[in-house]
Amino acid sequence: MTLESAKDQAKVSYPDVLLHIDGRWRPASNGVTSPVTNPATGEVIGAFAHASSDDLDEALAAADRGFQLWSRVSPFDRSNLMRKAADLLRQRAESIAALLTLEQGKPLAEARTEILATADIIDWFAEEARRSYGRIVPARVPGARQSVLKEPVGPVAAFTPWNFPVSQLGRKLAAALAAGCSIIIKAAEETPASPAELIRTFEDAGIPAGVVNLVFGTPAQISQHLIPHPVIRKVTFTGSTPVGKQLAALAGLHMKRVTMELGGHAPVMILKDADIERAVAVTTAFKYRNAGQVCISPTRFLIEEPVYDEFVSRFVKAAADIKVGDGFAPDTNMGPLVSNRRVEAIENLIQDAIDEGAEQLIGGKRMSNDGHFFQPTVLSNVPRHARAMNEEPFGPVALMVPMRSVDEILSEANRLPFGLASYGFTRSATSAAMIGEGVAAGMVSINHSGLALPEVPFGGINDSGYGTEGGADALESYLNTRFISHLQIS
Ligand code: NAD
Repeated sequence: MTLESAKDQAKVSYPDVLLHIDGRWRPASNGVTSPVTNPATGEVIGAFAHASSDDLDEALAAADRGFQLWSRVSPFDRSNLMRKAADLLRQRAESIAALLTLEQGKPLAEARTEILATADIIDWFAEEARRSYGRIVPARVPGARQSVLKEPVGPVAAFTPWNFPVSQLGRKLAAALAAGCSIIIKAAEETPASPAELIRTFEDAGIPAGVVNLVFGTPAQISQHLIPHPVIRKVTFTGSTPVGKQLAALAGLHMKRVTMELGGHAPVMILKDADIERAVAVTTAFKYRNAGQVCISPTRFLIEEPVYDEFVSRFVKAAADIKVGDGFAPDTNMGPLVSNRRVEAIENLIQDAIDEGAEQLIGGKRMSNDGHFFQPTVLSNVPRHARAMNEEPFGPVALMVPMRSVDEILSEANRLPFGLASYGFTRSATSAAMIGEGVAAGMVSINHSGLALPEVPFGGINDSGYGTEGGADALESYLNTRFISHLQIS
């Protein structure tokens, strides 16, 4: 199948993306739009409505009314509606995946997987909605009843990124709705159409007007407007650590609940007793997924010296087999980066690492003047002071570093302030336990890539943020705990 016939088959035509406020799709009140480009060609493919302050005020008023409605809907009914939306999302997976590939660049198969995984996330939270239990605490005083209640925290302001525009939104939306919250989402301006289609599934499933609102515009202006507003009771953000710190500070000033899912710099600890074949297969597939634009992407490969050469040479061979191209081409394994800004950032990090003494084993260059394609890249013997070893590359770059001992590996793994994902490869149960307990990270996966399922925690510590967006704890962060002590008197 050719690229053109793959596109034809996907029947992809890009819409003008509107705001969704109080149950209505509509342009910005002042008519302003901004362009959307296809990262594979650099061409403008459409536009999104750019919210004005008036639009944001309308969204706030709608979310306030939506909260009054939705918080009174029983968890059972919330759950049923969410399941209906998840079913619609599965039915529409092909057409939404095509939009996602067109605006974000990832291969169609990855886009499809993201949509279906989001439906699973929604289903999981729909089930969890029915388990937002309180409890009764035995009283010291006879005749007293001490009740602990779980209640939705209130309207939520959510800021979601372009790397997984559907699933990162799905995590926030599903947890908020399961808890009984309304929500205003500012989805990423780079990739507006696929999140809008996710919202449409909830609309078509019958969600009341005002419960789910979607806006786009100037990110800093929207966060400055929404976060301090008294209607908003909770802020959730996925994006870079510097922006996350600014938004958390603003939320703190106004005493809002916060979940922050920020950047990472995942260490991959390859011990000398590792199954090297398995380690290469798992990490190459994962490193270049979504062109490395993944917050839990494997980044610093810390490899014990006896297996360094073997691991690196096998990794380079596997990286050389990756076919880079348009996400619609059936043989593409890796699409373009999302923007020219990201290409320039990666070029700078690679040049700096080479200037500092790293050896480039493969890749290192942009691939065309039209789209934002970049070669899968492997750098060897990267010095610790190179910028790439300290800043999140967020691109298709693997950094290889030889290590003398497990202690040295653990100390390098914990050197950075980030603490999101980390990976270990070893046959030894003792070393696996040392890695699991010794690495300061919110998530550790040993001998496979076992992260990001709906039912398990997903989140970081330290500069990677706080709060989790998976598992039962994720619902908790959208709930207030209240206590009522009632002494029965006659
Ligand atoms: P960025 O920080 O400029 O933007 C990331 C996201 O945050 C975008 O969706 C953007 O719209 C939003 N944003 C930016 N400033 C904002 C503000 N003041 N208020 C509200 N939202 C705001 O980064 P970028 O150049 O687009 O992406 C590169 C970096 O972003 C990476 O280095 C990575 O650390 C981070 N990132 C992380 C994730 C993740 O999954 N944790 C996802 C995307 C980007």
